[in-house]
Amino acid sequence: MTKEQPGLFEDIWEPSPEQFIAEPEDISYMPFLPGVGPGEAYPQVRDIEELKGLAQGCRRCRLRETCQQVVFAQGSPDARLMLIGEGPGQEEDIQGVPFVGRAGQLLDKILEASELERSQVYISNVVKCRPPGNRLPNPDEVKECRKYLEAQIRLIRPGIIVCLGSMASQTVIDPKAKITRIRGTWLIRQGIKIMPTYHPAALLRNPGYKRPVWEDFKQIRDEYNQAKRCPPLP
Ligand code: URA
Repeated sequence: MTKEQPGLFEDIWEPSPEQFIAEPEDISYMPFLPGVGPGEAYPQVRDIEELKGLAQGCRRCRLRETCQQVVFAQGSPDARLMLIGEGPGQEEDIQGVPFVGRAGQLLDKILEASELERSQVYISNVVKCRPPGNRLPNPDEVKECRKYLEAQIRLIRPGIIVCLGSMASQTVIDPKAKITRIRGTWLIRQGIKIMPTYHPAALLRNPGYKRPVWEDFKQIRDEYNQAKRCPPLP
């Protein structure tokens, strides 16, 4: 599920002439994610439950035809720390909760070792519907679904975002990001600290990633102890 796919998102969002001359209220919100245009990530939605309802009724891509249910997120809407994975797997699709399969169990252990509890964090994925056969989500699926992720970040306003693996890092940080190069280094955008690290599923395949992930989570824990949520947007 987490193999790197180079050139996955070659489309870089470019504003149309109308967007250049948008009214001030339209441009007061700068999207957080690369490639998401102002106004396209459910700006009218002010509440995370309302957003969840929209995602549950979503048919914008074909993933909903083959999955059992939409796996929106788990955790407190007041969380200071948000974890972002790739997309639900089989077990998540059955239970409707992110990270409850083997990778999720490993994530729980990592959180516990970092003195963090699931209830303290907000966990979601780049895509909310399970890709059939656990394939990687396609670029068009990511392009649609990242609008929900953008809105989740806008509504939760975490102080820290952890990108679990390549897909999350490419969606949140940079479409050309290479996880092996950028992991373990903080990036700050719009006052939110972002840390890319390996996906727990990659760790299951490659135990050599254990040490770097532990180093990354020690940094995350230290930062978490000082972190606040970002102030809400106007
Ligand atoms: N892998 C992910 O990226 N997300 C999940 O929710 C489960 C496994």
